Amino acid sequence: MTQKFAAKRLDNLPPYLFAEIDRKKAELVEQGHDVISLGIGDPDKPTFQHVIDEMIEAVQRSANHQYPSYTGSLQYRQACAQFMGTRFDVEVCPKTEVLALIGSKEGIANLFPAFVDPGAYTLIPGIGYPVYSGGGILNDSNSWWMPMNEENGWLADFESTPADVLEKAQMMILSYPNNPTSAVATPEYFDKAIAFAKKHNLLLVHDNAYCDIAFDGYVPPSILERPDAMDCCIEIFSASKSYNMTGWRAAFAAGNADAIRALGTVKSNVDSGIFTAVQEAAALAFTGPQDQVKEMSDLYERRRNIAMAALDEMGLEYLYPRGTIFIWVKVPSGYTSAEYVEKVLTEAHVIIGPGNAYGPEDGEGYFRVSLACEDDRIVEAFERMKKLS
Ligand SMILES: *Cc1c(COP(=O)(O)O)cnc(C)c1O
Repeated sequence: MTQKFAAKRLDNLPPYLFAEIDRKKAELVEQGHDVISLGIGDPDKPTFQHVIDEMIEAVQRSANHQYPSYTGSLQYRQACAQFMGTRFDVEVCPKTEVLALIGSKEGIANLFPAFVDPGAYTLIPGIGYPVYSGGGILNDSNSWWMPMNEENGWLADFESTPADVLEKAQMMILSYPNNPTSAVATPEYFDKAIAFAKKHNLLLVHDNAYCDIAFDGYVPPSILERPDAMDCCIEIFSASKSYNMTGWRAAFAAGNADAIRALGTVKSNVDSGIFTAVQEAAALAFTGPQDQVKEMSDLYERRRNIAMAALDEMGLEYLYPRGTIFIWVKVPSGYTSAEYVEKVLTEAHVIIGPGNAYGPEDGEGYFRVSLACEDDRIVEAFERMKKLS
């Protein structure tokens, strides 16, 4: 619907598929039903106590109450660089190759004005975080959805991009371990993507939001570990999922210095940085003890196993998750994603994510289960879903 005070480009944004789910949920709750949500990608456990304690001290210091450094304090950027060194053995210069972000969502949205001209193209994964496509719409640029499906192992196929699109492309976005599919990338895939980006003059952006949530001993890499990555890549990291800090808004970009500078230029015209007290607390999250990060992975792994056992019993097919807080499941035959999600909500009072919300074509026919929910509620949710005819 065209509104009086809204730019035409807003009409190009896809409908918010969770709006109808939210409406129905509110209705069910009002009727007294117990609704279980396996729909939200937001860790259910609190932020680690040592990070909260650091924040309590940091918020008392009056110097922290003024405008923060736009790029992130040097102390914050040094902490990010230290994280890259200890976690990945990647060396980045805190002054030129690191930029603070007010959460990675903000960073991703600002990639478009920084790197993509109006009318140009961004290559985005056929299934992914919705801001990858929304960012282009808000910037009057175009998205090319790279095919991403079971056949190609959920590794977005950049090589099939048509020549006329490539000619006008300026950026490519990838993200592994992947939300919503939980797919992980091989080093060979990253190497091919880097070679492709260099050949076609693309900035390659890797969104690594789930680098610290992995199972069965798998350790997700940084794309910056690969040779030549610093020539054409930036990578985005977030405190949100690793440290249960989604509400705090703390993330960073690391990588190619020219790209970091361009993103910083956009941001200095748009925002005024992360609250310095939050920077101090997040710096401790990135550089302090990491044992609770492992505990969280173990917790999600246990929940994954509970959910997989239930899905097996239901005879539903899914991608075996080696990381993230999600399971990507095929809807039973005879349903679209939207139909199955609606049925599960109406009849079992369980919320799951419709696959087409993450990829209008490649995501259709799937649903996403989130593991950010207590074990016994996951058990209960699947018990209810099993009883559906
Ligand atoms: C959650 C998520 C984000 C956003 O994280 P914030 O740092 O909280 O903005 C970005 N990318 C992916 C793939 C996510 O799942």
